[in-house]
Amino acid sequence: AVLVGRRVKTKRKWGKVVRAMKDFEEGCLTPIGRLRQVVDAMAVEMHAGLASDGGSKLKMLLTYVDSLPDGNENGIFYGLDLGSTDFRVSRVHLGGGTIILEHEIECHSIPQHLSTCTTKDLFDFIAMTLKQFVEKEGSESESIPNKNRKLGFTFSFPLRQTSISSGTLLKWTKGFAIEDTVDKDVSECLEEAMTRTGLHMQVAALMNDTVGTLALCHYYDEDTVAAVIIGTGTNACYVERTDAIIKSQGLFTNSGGMVINLEWGSFWSSHLPRTSYDVALDEDSPSRNDQGFEKMVSSMYLGDIVRRVIRAMAEDSDLFGGGDAPNLSEPFILRMPLIVAMHEDDSADLAEVARILMETFKVFKVPLKTRRLVVRLCDVVTRRAARLVAAGIVGIMKKVGRDGSSGISGGRAKNIKTKRTVIAIEGDLYSEYTMFREYLNEAVTDILGDDIAENIILKEFDHRSSGIGSALLAAASHSSHQAYDI
Ligand code: BGC
Ligand code: MG
Repeated sequence: AVLVGRRVKTKRKWGKVVRAMKDFEEGCLTPIGRLRQVVDAMAVEMHAGLASDGGSKLKMLLTYVDSLPDGNENGIFYGLDLGSTDFRVSRVHLGGGTIILEHEIECHSIPQHLSTCTTKDLFDFIAMTLKQFVEKEGSESESIPNKNRKLGFTFSFPLRQTSISSGTLLKWTKGFAIEDTVDKDVSECLEEAMTRTGLHMQVAALMNDTVGTLALCHYYDEDTVAAVIIGTGTNACYVERTDAIIKSQGLFTNSGGMVINLEWGSFWSSHLPRTSYDVALDEDSPSRNDQGFEKMVSSMYLGDIVRRVIRAMAEDSDLFGGGDAPNLSEPFILRMPLIVAMHEDDSADLAEVARILMETFKVFKVPLKTRRLVVRLCDVVTRRAARLVAAGIVGIMKKVGRDGSSGISGGRAKNIKTKRTVIAIEGDLYSEYTMFREYLNEAVTDILGDDIAENIILKEFDHRSSGIGSALLAAASHSSHQAYDI
């Protein structure tokens, strides 16, 4: 009788887990109707952000980029890419006719303490690395007088730009927290650090990583209109007509268009499928009530949503065969590559899932049903993220009138054939996570329909693209040839 009683008890507890799973799944649902609402919300917020500063959670930042590389650039240019735990220095030798004669890239990781130290420490470290890079280079570049070395600086955080080569930091994201950088001009910070280390280079262009990626994609393909990053953080930029940038009326009279940085990480809409776990993640973060979209879709956060659900379930039932799981309460311990590996485990007994959970959470036993449950959690969280990003992309297409619908500014008939439209896409979620990529592509087609989706081409780029792109943009904004004017 005792035994039977016990069994009933565990069973009932597992029932709780099943119910929690069902609730969570329902909370994460992204049926096509809801995705369309997100599409509309994105387009509406873009309008609002262009109308006035502070008009929307979407900042719609001016980039001052009004011409993009078209493949005819010539000369040697440098790129510097700072965006997450690593940064890259590069040198690109352009030969015209979309020929890159030579390029060299070095990747360095940023020592953990530098993401929370002082502005001076961070920039001195970067300048020193750049200096070492320049000192190592071959004779070709040695002939360039120091001061004529032009640098493109990719800085993957929100900037209030005042020109193509200057801008102040609005806030840090992705775990960076160096208070004294906020409101400072980061080009100046870099130039001062370079001077301190005895390196004389000029920041010719300062940009967001989405803009660098857009520049690289445009270098090869003039149909490029937008770029999306879905990595540690997430964001998008696109080419907008000057007359649609209402908040800057009169500022740019002689240009047809400008690249706008959405900063869609802070996008918010009541249509987003938000669960109690998302709310809790937000509350525990240093950036409460901020970067809401990013916290649902980027690779920095996805694993932590999964961890939070597992932890809650483990309180109701012994997911791990009765043992404690000490590391379940450790924030961000379930990193993105682990989620990918578990999700992609196609063995019958899910051995890899068990191994990862045992190692990560320091548990000794992972029953098969727990393994299955965790795989399902990975799927739910990933699918929601991918579909929301797809909706964001279609939102941009809608704003520029390339979604085949009438657009919110009206005027176009339904299902008009759209022009070939290229969108650059970069980030570990897209490039290293097959399921994510498939869910995203599928959702774009589902929302737009086959005919329209056929003309929307997502071109994949790797993590080096924003750095190379920054050198290209430095070239485009400083070369003598007539660059491609937007
Ligand atoms: C930043 C953006 C950046 C994105 C991708 C976000 O956290 O706010 O500026 O483009 O991450 O790196
Ligand atoms: Mg990057």
